[in-house]
Amino acid sequence: MLPFMRIDHDTPTRHVKGILDTNYYRYTAGIAGEKFFEGLKENKLVAVACKDCKDCEDSHVYLPPRMYCECCFAELTDYFAVPDTGTVVSFTEVFQDVEGKPLSEPVILALINIDDTDTLFLHHLIDVDELYVGLRVKAVWNEQKNGSLLDIKGFKPT
Ligand SMILES: [Zn+2]
Ligand SMILES: [Zn+2]
Repeated sequence: MLPFMRIDHDTPTRHVKGILDTNYYRYTAGIAGEKFFEGLKENKLVAVACKDCKDCEDSHVYLPPRMYCECCFAELTDYFAVPDTGTVVSFTEVFQDVEGKPLSEPVILALINIDDTDTLFLHHLIDVDELYVGLRVKAVWNEQKNGSLLDIKGFKPT
């Protein structure tokens, strides 16, 4: 089902009160996600490119990688590592956690256009003196790897 398809209900929506135990479910990262998270363990940002979009005006290099091209719906199999450097496109400073409690230190989140990609990558900015759109940054990798997004400590200015 496409995400923009409209769903019509001919019966009213119902709700049920109770506790749903989610310990029995396991979320998988999927084929493209697995390649991305495996790459993180080796200090690599794994992206995927669409070759079928050659005639398209835009190029399409996705990071994190997707299984299918969002432009032409072709299956994507051309995975490769891109640089761990990029340019800040947007940022925000966060002072509270999800429950509204003040953080001990504010956190800076940024949308980063990683070099050689056409998408935006969300991560922390660290060791920032001057913050602005267009700031060049590079990933700081954790020694210890878990195959999670936090294998990158954050991105710091270059
Ligand atoms: Zn395209
Ligand atoms: Zn495409």
